[in-house]
Amino acid sequence: MPDPILHLSNLDVRYGRTQALSGIGLSLYEGEAVGLLGTNGAGKTTLLNAVSGFLRPSGGTLELFGEPIHQCPPHQIVRRGLLQLSQERDLFGDLTVLDNLRLGSLARAPKTFDRNLERVFHYFPRLKERVAQRASTMSGGEQQMLAIGRALMAEPRIMLFDEPSAGLSPLFVQEIGAMMRALRNDGDVSILLVEQNMLLAAQVIDRFYMLRAGTVVAEGPVSELEQDHEELARRYYL
Ligand code: ATP
Repeated sequence: MPDPILHLSNLDVRYGRTQALSGIGLSLYEGEAVGLLGTNGAGKTTLLNAVSGFLRPSGGTLELFGEPIHQCPPHQIVRRGLLQLSQERDLFGDLTVLDNLRLGSLARAPKTFDRNLERVFHYFPRLKERVAQRASTMSGGEQQMLAIGRALMAEPRIMLFDEPSAGLSPLFVQEIGAMMRALRNDGDVSILLVEQNMLLAAQVIDRFYMLRAGTVVAEGPVSELEQDHEELARRYYL
């Protein structure tokens, strides 16, 4: 078994006196997509923010490609290849689609721009048709595509998605799901996905971790999720 590219061991995170995560263990291996499931308030976003360096853990270890990162600020973690896509899409509304994509590639060598742009258009042909459109005039689903596309321009090796389907129409949920599946199948980017839409998650992920009140209460292959969907829902969602 190869080493995980992201490894959390016994991780604790507190907000003041509130313990939001305790004793979290999680591994992500190269080329796989892993789901973080659980109800509102279970600690999923907190976990992503700790991994991305936005929150300092109060205990435990966090390793990215075998190196400890619990002391690293977010920009250093991005530079090491891990990129979190936040729920707010943080696009530049007055700029065009193309300029937003350009901003995503600033940290990369200019000669890689065309190749990365083609890759984004391969996943999202709709963005190619709209390169000159201002981001603020796009629909929510299109903006989500642009936010993911811009992230891809930075050539991440690990992407963290926080409820990418939130607030989108069923058609866009399907398109984003298909895109994440293609990304996972192409194998260049490993995925950690927070998603309350179990049907969407099940289409994308290989394995899951179920969080409840800040701890991992179940984990396993996605097949288990499909078989035990009702049982898991009864035990952890209701
Ligand atoms: P959701 O799906 O609603 O976003 P979640 O699983 O992502 O839920 P978190 O947002 O990580 O859960 O929240 C975990 C716990 O930490 C919750 O009890 C929440 O109230 C608490 N919490 C989150 N952010 C803060 C904060 N900035 N200050 C204090 N407590 C917080």
